[in-house]
Amino acid sequence: MTNPFLEPSSLPYALPPFAEITDGDWLPAFEAGLQQQRAELEAIATDPAEPTFANVLEALERSGRILARVEHAFFDKASSDSNDVTDALELELAPRLAEHADAIRLDPRLWRRLDALHARRDQLDLTAEQRYLLERTVADFVRAGAALGDDDKEALRQLNQELSTLTTRFEKALLADTNDLAVVVRDPAELRGLTEGQLGAAAEAARERGLEDAWVVSLVLPTGHPLLASLDDPALRERVMAASRSRGRRGGEHDTRALVLEIARLRARRAVLLGFPDHASWVTAGETAGSPAAVADLLGRLAAPAARNAAAELVDLRRLAASEAGSDGGGEVRASDWAWWAEKVRAERFDVDTAVMRDYFEADRVLHDGVFHAASRLYGLEFAERRDLVGPHPEARVFEVTENGGAPVGLYVLDLYTRDSKRGGAWMNPLVSQSDLLGLPPVVVNNLNVSKPAAGSPTLLTLDEVTTLFHEFGHALHGLLARVTYPSFSGTNVFRDFVEFPSQVNEMWMLWPEVLENYAVHHVTGERMPRELVEKLVASRTYGEGFATSEYLASALLDQAWHRLSPDQADRVDDVEAFEQEALAAVGLDLAQVPPRYSSTYFAHTFAGGYDAGYYSYIWSEVLDADAVEWFEENGGLSREAGDRFRARLLGVGGSKDPLEAYRDFRGRDARVEPLLERRGLA
Ligand SMILES: [Zn+2]
Repeated sequence: MTNPFLEPSSLPYALPPFAEITDGDWLPAFEAGLQQQRAELEAIATDPAEPTFANVLEALERSGRILARVEHAFFDKASSDSNDVTDALELELAPRLAEHADAIRLDPRLWRRLDALHARRDQLDLTAEQRYLLERTVADFVRAGAALGDDDKEALRQLNQELSTLTTRFEKALLADTNDLAVVVRDPAELRGLTEGQLGAAAEAARERGLEDAWVVSLVLPTGHPLLASLDDPALRERVMAASRSRGRRGGEHDTRALVLEIARLRARRAVLLGFPDHASWVTAGETAGSPAAVADLLGRLAAPAARNAAAELVDLRRLAASEAGSDGGGEVRASDWAWWAEKVRAERFDVDTAVMRDYFEADRVLHDGVFHAASRLYGLEFAERRDLVGPHPEARVFEVTENGGAPVGLYVLDLYTRDSKRGGAWMNPLVSQSDLLGLPPVVVNNLNVSKPAAGSPTLLTLDEVTTLFHEFGHALHGLLARVTYPSFSGTNVFRDFVEFPSQVNEMWMLWPEVLENYAVHHVTGERMPRELVEKLVASRTYGEGFATSEYLASALLDQAWHRLSPDQADRVDDVEAFEQEALAAVGLDLAQVPPRYSSTYFAHTFAGGYDAGYYSYIWSEVLDADAVEWFEENGGLSREAGDRFRARLLGVGGSKDPLEAYRDFRGRDARVEPLLERRGLA
């Protein structure tokens, strides 16, 4: 048997041949892929011919085909249906792939050719996309250290390695402390307020730990535990909150404070080595934000009104707590009580019964008559299930996407259900990145974590799950509607602080009257969702924005504060809690009842990495989202004309031009922040 990744897939749309792939194929395919790309790069770097766009940039874009095929398939498998083999491989591959990336970008011969080409950029007669590819590639190489001298490159490699070790240690210590701090409950009376399902999960968590006659509340990453909204016992709520907030700051082997300080110091030193004053400057230079000052501008503008709104919400919660004389808590509202009282206010004020709503959200109906329907009205897309094609998991469904009565667009794979071998959350991955250069159409997959119903019962989605499906499908559209030449620019290959924008926009169609009416149909009676329920739903969705915005902003500002330190300043910080307190007080977000969504000692986004100096991205792209929603509302809403403009000027161009220029091209002007302020009640 030959390895299924060595040759291009012969399946429709080059879908990876999932039916043939075995666990034994991954590592040999990665080895072959790394070797192939190393040989290709060697040929590019040592080419005796004068550097041209074709023999440098296009050759780079064409390189690494085996690696691209196996990476896409493997990382989908490892996240959606992992096993011991993929777990071990992920650990083994992470440093090797990082080293491979460094080997490309720190190769002095490659850099000389790229730099020479860049110097002649005005004489090369390049298309706009080619010119942008040249600029972006040079910028990426420079940001990665390509232009440094040999000694500095060596120091950089050293720092990269130390940082990769420290961030991995942070991740492991946090995971261990999170597990150690799970809250064990012996008296079932303390668990009053939980549903049967929640109790069952807590009992199961105890069994998994080998505990008899006990229940376990396992901690989740954010400060606020989801069960705090339903636990009636204030003492248990306080225990859960205290455990959550003490992660990484209890002393002992899982304490992360020393790691936080060391990571901040090394990142500051690396930034200076790369020619930037601090880590945040280095990170944002490679994003649409451009500078930490621009980030500070936006966050600073939102902080005071968000804190004010949270304070107003607290007044409401206290009033209700005081009026329920004799109730647990006696009128006091601590951080641990917030969610519980907020739930009461929500129920009282909006009378929303989310359980009733699920009867109107049957999954297949939401998918076909909601998500697909909106895409067909906007972009003229048609969807047909291809039961003959095998997805990455037996439960994954494959849909062929066409337009204009059958012209091929790509494949959409949906893997809806949760399983033990799937990581939490929801996400989109490309399985094949669209590229005209390589003649590849797009294949994308959405993964969600919806509970599987009992056999014979329909899958009914919660309101959050419907939102998530529309959101993830927005990412899928970004991949499916890509129309670029170079694979580096395809679909969601855009800046981190831009990538959430198209998916956030797609959420708007979920409650759009013509769409909602079309899919929200009772799964037994066939009746449409009553108008009154829809109105309550819309009204209740904006309740609690003061709290949500404040806890998010607190973390985003902390993430910036740690990464705006110069090396000298970073060396002088020796107390994590004091630094945090000072940073939050400086922006008025040191609210006792509203702790940051993540505190430094368990802020995995920033200290395990991935969103370091980038946690601001979510609200940054929401500015564009809210502004684009306003445009749709003013320009015909759900129509082909509006959809086609968004597709041609924004979704289709992917990363092939400056995203803010693409936005201007779509919107006719820069985004305004006012629609976001209004949406979040901050105006
Ligand atoms: Zn997203």
